[in-house]
Parts: sequence; C-alpha cells; structure tokens
Amino acid sequence: MEKRDVLVIGGSAAGIVAATTAKSFYPDKSVMVVRKEDFVMVPCGIPYLFGTLKSCSQNQIPDAGLANANVALKIAEITSVDPADKICTTSDGAKIGFEKLILALGSTPVKPAWLKGADLENVFTIPKDKEYIERLLGCLDQFKKIVVVGGGFIGVEVADELCQSGKEVTLVEMTPHLLSLAFDPEFSMKVEESLKTRGVKLKTGISVKKINGESKVTGVTLDNDESLEADAVILSIGYRPNSLLAERAGFAINKMGFIQVNEYMRTEHPDVFAVGDCAAKSSFITRTPKATMLASTACAEARIAAMNLYKLSTVRLFGGTITIFCTAIGDNAFGAAGVTENLAQERGFDTLSATFEGVDRHPGTLPETHKQIVKLVAAKESGIVLGGEVSGGTSVGELTNLIGFIIQNRMTVDALLTSQIGTHPLLTGPPTAYPLIKAAEMIARKRRAS
Ligand SMILES: Cc1cc2nc3c(=O)[nH]c(=O)nc-3n(C[C@H](O)[C@H](O)[C@H](O)COP(=O)(O)OP(=O)(O)OC[C@H]3O[C@@H](n4cnc5c(N)ncnc54)[C@H](O)[C@@H]3O)c2cc1C
Repeated sequence: MEKRDVLVIGGSAAGIVAATTAKSFYPDKSVMVVRKEDFVMVPCGIPYLFGTLKSCSQNQIPDAGLANANVALKIAEITSVDPADKICTTSDGAKIGFEKLILALGSTPVKPAWLKGADLENVFTIPKDKEYIERLLGCLDQFKKIVVVGGGFIGVEVADELCQSGKEVTLVEMTPHLLSLAFDPEFSMKVEESLKTRGVKLKTGISVKKINGESKVTGVTLDNDESLEADAVILSIGYRPNSLLAERAGFAINKMGFIQVNEYMRTEHPDVFAVGDCAAKSSFITRTPKATMLASTACAEARIAAMNLYKLSTVRLFGGTITIFCTAIGDNAFGAAGVTENLAQERGFDTLSATFEGVDRHPGTLPETHKQIVKLVAAKESGIVLGGEVSGGTSVGELTNLIGFIIQNRMTVDALLTSQIGTHPLLTGPPTAYPLIKAAEMIARKRRAS
C-alpha cells in the first residue's frame, strides 16, 4: 500500500496551498495531493470565460507549482476515509495510507429541488468543472436572452461578461440590492448603476417563482407573476460544502453542512484537518457561523492547517473570516472587508461610520484618475475598525486588502491617523486627502463629539 506522511484530498486553492505550505514547513515529510480532475480551473477566473477569456485553456492553475514544491500529485477520487487506520480508498479500490490528512474537498453549486423547472434543458449552474463549463460555452451561440438568478458576486460577474459578449441579460436578485452581503445599499447602488450602464437589466427585491418551458427553458416567472423570456437560465444562488465524504467517515458536520474544525483547522481527530469551502467558518467580527466561501479565506485556512500539522502553535490560528472581497465592472472596481454597517448594527454593535470621496491619483487632472470612495465602519466605544467599503479604479483590490489587515489587527481609527501612508501621483490618492485616512479622521471627530 502506498503511504504518505501528509495526504491532501483536493487540488484547488485550499489543497494546493495546504500541500505546498506543509512541504515548506516540514521538508522531510512526503506530501501528496489527490484530486478528482486532471485540469484545475482558476475558480475566480470562471466568470471571465463568458466573454474576456475565450477558452478554459486560458484559465488553468498550472501543476508546476506542486511539482516545484516537491509535492506528489495523484488524479483519483477518494471514496472513503478510515480515520482509525489512517487509510483512504480511491474509486478504483487503491489504498493510500497517511500520517496526517487535510480535507480540502471544496464546494458545489446549489440547484434547488424546490424550484420548478430547475431541471429543464438550458438551465445551468457555475461549477468549478471544466467539462461542464465547456459544454455551457459550446451552447452559448444558441442563446440570445439569458436570465441570471442570484446577485452575489458570481452572478454579477457572469451577467456582466455575458452582456458584454452581446447577450440580452437580466439579473434577478431577491434581496433589495445586489451584493448585499458585502455592501451597504449606497455602494450596492453604485454596482447596480455600473451594470445598468453596461446594458444588464436588473430585477431586485424579487424572487424567481418558477422556470418555464416544456423540455427546454422558455423563460422565468417572478414572484409578482411577471414573466421574462429566456433561452437559458444560469443559477448562481450559492454553493454547498462537499462534506459527505467526511460525514461518512464519522466527522462532525455543523448545521450549515460544513466539516467542524477548531481554530487550528483541526477536526476532532488530532491528525485530520479540514480547510477551504468544506470547512466550518465563523465571522471574525460577529463570531456567528458563516457560509461565505472565498479563495482568500480558503488559502489562509490552508496555510494555518499546514503549519499546525505536527505541532500546534498558539500564534498560528484562524480567528474567523474577514470576508475580503472585490470585483470590477468595467473600469469601476468595488471592494469590501469586514462587516457592513447594516450587519454590524443588526448584530448589536454601536457603530460610527464615515465616507470620504477623493481620487486615486494626484493631481486629479492626471489621465486615468478615478474617483475613490472609502467608507469605514468602527465600533463607537473603542474606535476599532469593523468594516470598510471602497469604490474606485484598479487600486481598490489592494486597498481592500489593506482594510482587511487593519481589521484583522484590530486597529482603531486613532491608530490609522498615526499611520504612515506612502503616496505617488501615478499610483495613489494624495497624501493631503488620502481617502482611507480622511474617513478615519471623520470617525475620530464624531467620536470626540459624541
Ligand atoms: C465562479 C466563481 C468565481 C469566484 N470568484 C472568487 C473571487 O473573485 N475571489 C475569491 O476570493 N473567491 C472566489 N470564488 C470562491 C473560490 O473559488 C472558492 O472559495 C475556492 O475555490 C475554494 O477552494 P477549495 O480548494 O476549498 O475548493 P474547490 O475549489 O471547490 O476545490 C475542491 C477540490 O477538491 C477535489 N475533491 C473533492 N472531493 C474529492 C474527492 N472525493 N476525491 C478527490 N478530490 C476531491 C476537487 O476535485 C477539487 O480539486 C469564486 C468561486 C466561483 C465558483
């Protein structure tokens, strides 16, 4: 029987990072990744296959990263895990023994059984599966009108890409605004404006009651009985964790279907860890369980599990998901980290917020200068930053990451005001009116006044 010191099941974001970090921290240990698919797509690149990128071959995670790190790779499906004897079995009956096991099993899109018509021809989801996505791309020429259901970031990105490639796209979202888990309404409305300007039709605050058609899709009916014609429907209404393998092996699964882990990403079995979309998460700020799945969270969890494989470290633990997220709609980028003001208040925080509107180059007369808007949310009592939302140009991505660091390190608005910020005319906002610092200053002023 083949045996490895560290066996990782899953070869996407979390599996790759877990395996390469394990090899980096424990170079004497043999590490192997087992994954089902021969070709791993960059999951976050999938929406861009519907317009910008032309084929899946342009959206691949190269295997060279594993090979260069001296991590072995096996393409196989693991069908059972025996934690007592520390053996995994593949679908063709092969056995692989392990000393430490990391479950990085990922997630699969939800296709709700309750939604009438969900099984009709030309109803699709967006799985991280090359063959499926290639089939969908192969059919696109037949479709003129497409309804995308679900206004989270995947639905927004897919709808925009399809629209830019010439389709008539309607995006339906049941909450009052798009991206409402990430943004307060004033930022969501900017996203909506950008999408509408680029031609996507929006229906928000309303659900799809059923998908219409005999065998093929002809449209959808909304809750208010309005009908929309469609040649295809794309459901992007969430992902469920792939936790069945772990459940069958006797691991605890939480109420939301995720594999239960502690802050070291360890299951109740001392030699078995779970990371990424399949592992249980809670919010860094509110401490409540969370179902948000992001590559950023998955990779942080993977690093933490790998570092803790042979020795637990009290300074290497996962303190909860900060939900750092960004997207771009044409030239307009949007990012968020931590909690929205609405959610913070809903969960019982006494908050202060401030929004500053500036520019991302200086002087603002420079070509390609973009408006940059930063909203910060802080706890009133302590001044600790709880969340931030940003809109602007391409610098939004890294600025959102900076806000993530600020939140994770529990910085206060006063600490931000004493921070040193590097600036350059072509690369950042001005030192005299750096939007992040100005928003912190406005909150500090409100705190003094309260
Ligand atoms: C369209 C789309 C766009 C996204 N965009 C972003 C973005 O912009 N930013 C962001 O942060 N996040 C984004 N995400 C989320 C991000 O992709 C996921 O959080 C990330 O893929 C999680 O990685 P993972 O390794 O945990 O799981 P997955 O990517 O789901 O990988 C799971 C792996 O496990 C393997 N596996 C499962 N079961 C078995 C088994 N029994 N045997 C062998 N192998 C098995 C699979 O084959 C696969 O290799 C996006 C997701 C999608 C779908």
